[in-house]
Amino acid sequence: SFTLAIVGRPNVGKSTLFNRLVGRKLALVDDQPGVTRDLREGEGRIGPVRFTVIDTAGLEEVTDASLPGRMRALTERAVDSADVCLFLIDARVGVTPVDRTLAELLRKRAPRVILAANKAEGRAAEAGLIEAWELGLGEPLALSAEHGIGMDDLLRALEPIAAEFPDAAAIFEVDVGDEVDDNVDEEGGGAALPAGRPIQIAVVGRPNAGKSTLVNAILGEDRLLTGPEAGITRDAIAVTVDWMGTPFRIFDTAGMRKKAKVQAKLEKLSVSDGLRAVKFAEVVVVLLDVQVPFESQDLRIADLAEREGRAVVVAVNKWDLEEEKPQKLNELREAFGRLLPQLRGAPMVMVSALTGKGLDRLHTAIVKAYAVWNTRISTARLNRWLAAQTADHPPPAPAGRRIRLRYMTQVKTRPPTFVLFASIPDAVPEDYKRFLVNGLRRDFDMPGTPIRLYLRSGD
Ligand code: GDP
Repeated sequence: SFTLAIVGRPNVGKSTLFNRLVGRKLALVDDQPGVTRDLREGEGRIGPVRFTVIDTAGLEEVTDASLPGRMRALTERAVDSADVCLFLIDARVGVTPVDRTLAELLRKRAPRVILAANKAEGRAAEAGLIEAWELGLGEPLALSAEHGIGMDDLLRALEPIAAEFPDAAAIFEVDVGDEVDDNVDEEGGGAALPAGRPIQIAVVGRPNAGKSTLVNAILGEDRLLTGPEAGITRDAIAVTVDWMGTPFRIFDTAGMRKKAKVQAKLEKLSVSDGLRAVKFAEVVVVLLDVQVPFESQDLRIADLAEREGRAVVVAVNKWDLEEEKPQKLNELREAFGRLLPQLRGAPMVMVSALTGKGLDRLHTAIVKAYAVWNTRISTARLNRWLAAQTADHPPPAPAGRRIRLRYMTQVKTRPPTFVLFASIPDAVPEDYKRFLVNGLRRDFDMPGTPIRLYLRSGD
């Protein structure tokens, strides 16, 4: 799916629009007085189109003389993290000099811009809407984030963008049986990396596993979490970094926030913080402490990552402390298979965040898991495979009723999701489905990603 950044000067209504797109219950912490947040992020949706929304929320609270500089810096960061920018002006105020400056920045820097005049309810807004044309960003949409006006127009503006990022359409939620996407390259398929966009990762694990140390090691000299503007940047929800030639976006989690010494109040919210990071991430790095591996907290979050359909890489940290490495490795492998059977096939990498050892292998594992998560297998290959599987191992015949498996197709990537049409779908036992999923994982080389298989009736 794609990322939409809401940009504009303070008080044009960015947060209101953010809340409307994300839905209040999903909105990130926002009513903490005195906590300046920098970029916040949520999962947005209009009609069938889904996307990530970024909002330069921290700006609203900054009143001092440094505002222009911060506004530019924050807007640039938002623009650089986004596939499309939604630039808001206030229709009642009209175009201000600050709006012109931002418009110029967007024209130069943003790949796609949608211009919108907000607070456009009522006649007082007409003049502002007409003025907005002069920004040279095309036809302005008339919106009222507060009253929900203009959302249809916004949807129409987003649809062509959603079409460029096929996963943005929520076809799967509606009814998978009706929406079979057979538009795949017969020869190609397999894992492919969408070029250019950062891989979104979250590092999760129990306190003291070494999450902050690992993230700082990845950030290297580029320590965005502790810059001179610490008050604002430390509370960032995500940082973008080039790590060994690959762009990554790393989501902040509870442990890192603790290190950032934000008020105790925020700590209470931090339990759900790791969970939130999982929702935003594409690849979840479950960081274990080699001295206390596979704690219940680790197991819970790893399970959540699987259920949320994320790619998962398990990293075992503090490997530098381990004396009996080969023996420990065997123990860890055994524990992994026993305690996290749902993550079968996920890579496990030994690292030392402190010394930097093993980080190159972690990098490779993450990139590979991400590629696998994006795997696309053509329908022709799938059905040749299915025919071979069922010839060797036909489905059982419960109570004498023969189940015919007709046809299989991949409806979605991220994670790879398949639909199998069967004559009596409800009669296919769970262990036969598991047999097929394990076979898919093995024969199409898909370690480290959840695989979904749904049965539908097809005659
Ligand atoms: P977090 O709570 O998960 O963010 O953990 P921290 O990054 O704060 O690390 C907790 C402690 O473990 C700190 O004292 C780190 O110096 C230490 N630590 C982190 N990574 C390693 C490692 O790879 N090896 C060793 N020996 N210590 C580590």
